[in-house]
Amino acid sequence: MLRLENIGKTYPSGTQALAHLTLSVRPAEILAVVGGSGCGKSTLLRLIAGLDRPSAGRVDLDGEAITAPHPAVGVVFQEPRLLAWLTVAQNIGFGIAHLPRAERAARVELALQRIGLAAHGERWPRELSGGQAQRVALARALIAQPRVLLLDEPFSALDAFTRADLQEHLLALWEDTRPTLVLVTHDIDEALLLADRIVVMQPNPGRVASLVSVELPRP
Ligand code: ADP
Ligand code: ADP
Repeated sequence: MLRLENIGKTYPSGTQALAHLTLSVRPAEILAVVGGSGCGKSTLLRLIAGLDRPSAGRVDLDGEAITAPHPAVGVVFQEPRLLAWLTVAQNIGFGIAHLPRAERAARVELALQRIGLAAHGERWPRELSGGQAQRVALARALIAQPRVLLLDEPFSALDAFTRADLQEHLLALWEDTRPTLVLVTHDIDEALLLADRIVVMQPNPGRVASLVSVELPRP
């Protein structure tokens, strides 16, 4: 269980991005976080990722406080951020270099299949389309079998057709290990399609506590 308890975040500039935010996300739950620009969505993800620390409250995963980047928490950003000097397969396997070679190779091969790039493992990132590159980023994040995967506007740079394709690939990859997903998106259709629950963040940080939460039936 991912739990945020009474989180506040005030930047050194004095901007209060979050206040009194309490939220729990169950194992295997897909939570979409929507809200206007500047309401603190990216701040929230950075705190869960351990990339920044809250000014008040705590973030914990299965009872353990997250205060620094944690191997059980993966992140995918809007841009794929692939390593240009590694092949597609090497990029995907990058985070599991500690595993025995045969297991690593098997996981990379399965991931390549899941993202429809089984024949592209030896390509270079620069040879991929934007959608293909983002599929590789998803595979790279999920291959380490994180307990929580954070997605910050992962498809918003892509056209509608490519976005739909990516949403399907995300669900196919997610099914293998069913981590908790926290998806930040501007796209309400995407939230409705993918999420079990949607929380709407209020634009005024003082009112973040009044998260509106909508449960969706899983088909
Ligand atoms: P969103 O992702 O919903 O657009 P952010 O979390 O990026 O919102 O930003 C929330 C608020 O915090 C905004 O007012 C933003 O300007 C401010 N903010 C975000 N990052 C920083 C930072 N590193 N330093 C100071 N203020 C920041
Ligand atoms: P080959 O000799 O067949 O090219 P490699 O050692 O390059 O074998 O790769 C074997 C498997 O391990 C491949 O599936 C590849 O994606 C993965 N892999 C290669 N390099 C790394 C790395 N630095 N970190 C993690 N996985 C890697």
